[in-house]
Amino acid sequence: MTATSAHGSYYLASANQTLPTESLEGEVDADVCVIGGGYTGLSAALHLSQQGYSVALLEAETLGYGASGRNGGQVAPGHNMDHESLVKKVGKEIADLLWQISLESVELVRELIDQHQIECDKKDGVMHVAAKPAHNHHFEESVEYARRVLNYDDVEYVAPADVQQMLGTDKYHAGELYTRALHLHPLNYALGLAKAAQQAGARLFEHSRVTGYQSGAKPRVETATGAVNCKYILLATNGYLGKLEPRVAGKIMPINNFILATEPLSDELVKQINANDYAVADSRFVINYFRISGDNRLLWGGGENYSPNFPADIRSFVRKYMLEFYPQLENTRIDYGWGGTLAITLNRMPHFERLDQTLFVAHGYSGHGVAMATLGGKLMAEAIAGSAERFDAFAKVPTPTFPGGTLLRWPGLVAGMLYYSMRDRFF
Ligand SMILES: Cc1cc2nc3c(=O)[nH]c(=O)nc-3n(C[C@H](O)[C@H](O)[C@H](O)COP(=O)(O)OP(=O)(O)OC[C@H]3O[C@@H](n4cnc5c(N)ncnc54)[C@H](O)[C@@H]3O)c2cc1C
Repeated sequence: MTATSAHGSYYLASANQTLPTESLEGEVDADVCVIGGGYTGLSAALHLSQQGYSVALLEAETLGYGASGRNGGQVAPGHNMDHESLVKKVGKEIADLLWQISLESVELVRELIDQHQIECDKKDGVMHVAAKPAHNHHFEESVEYARRVLNYDDVEYVAPADVQQMLGTDKYHAGELYTRALHLHPLNYALGLAKAAQQAGARLFEHSRVTGYQSGAKPRVETATGAVNCKYILLATNGYLGKLEPRVAGKIMPINNFILATEPLSDELVKQINANDYAVADSRFVINYFRISGDNRLLWGGGENYSPNFPADIRSFVRKYMLEFYPQLENTRIDYGWGGTLAITLNRMPHFERLDQTLFVAHGYSGHGVAMATLGGKLMAEAIAGSAERFDAFAKVPTPTFPGGTLLRWPGLVAGMLYYSMRDRFF
């Protein structure tokens, strides 16, 4: 299967609605043209339309086709670079602002779901757990740091015995529980944002792949069958950027991650393996993450690859990780297996940049995109409306280019990633 083929996911099979959309034919005028129909693009379209801007959003495939319709659905605060390291990089003031923004991003997801009554199986609680006893101290320290330095109380240390009781396995050890974090059906959340954006006046075009654009004095975005003449262009293509914008392509690396969905499990089995119905993510470099769907399936994410192709048999590829922790699922049927592409950056912080006065990009959320991409779209909308401080706070975090740029990025990184995943297995 290639990374661009239809995904056949559980999310697609349980999607709420299809919106009436069109594909771009001919010339259209809009204040803002958004490229990409994931959380970044949809949130930007929603927030801009609410402020009275006319918006045309162009999505190459269908809304939520990218990572936003395929992910693990975990919505937790924080960045992939910890606060202490951020302070060293950008100073305390900006690091604190970025922490506050990450808290806001989770609250924003909650608010949008409530305001627009998005039905997306929202549930509370995300727990990070140690896959090795040697990782326990990390959780003790990070909870202590959050409480003492960040004054953040919505996180609790969970002792190994409690983790093991909650998750029905002795393969996990200590943990940290984020009580204000949540998990959700990612595609239904994306479709809910799309509906809200459309109701606010945005025009959403599907099957409208952008083939090129010009920014500057007369911004114009082109597809094979039409064009949008606009004042601003927002680039929201994340891991699916391809060759569209060579100036930022080397700042991100697309990686593929995979998920399976079991058949619906009995209540008894669910209680055994996830008594509190939290979303769980472990401390491996290539993490395992899991949660229970609205209809009692175990959704298990595990395994990555760094090539343009997905494994031929995704279900088997992921199932082995699940069975390592829950061998009692040996005979459980696997109904779905799918993958998606996300963009990571070298420093694991999102990359926000204004390429000129009319062209903005927000991408590279690494593993934190559900909340941060939603907020990224809002920050682009804010920047266009004249308040760029928060967009610029991210833009101040230097995003290194991958060694070798787009040309050598693959082999170098594959070697790096393999090193880490080997380390994870052996140390
Ligand atoms: C398997 C998996 C699990 C994940 N789990 C989590 C998780 O649990 N929690 C979390 O916070 N994050 C998670 N993520 C990351 C998160 O899903 C992403 O960071 C987030 O969805 C990015 O949103 P986006 O809108 O920026 O990009 P995307 O949702 O990828 O959207 C980009 C869109 O741009 C479109 N596009 C590309 N090129 C063009 C073009 N030329 N013209 C028009 N349209 C174009 C694509 O078709 C695509 O729909 C996961 C990602 C994956 C793949």
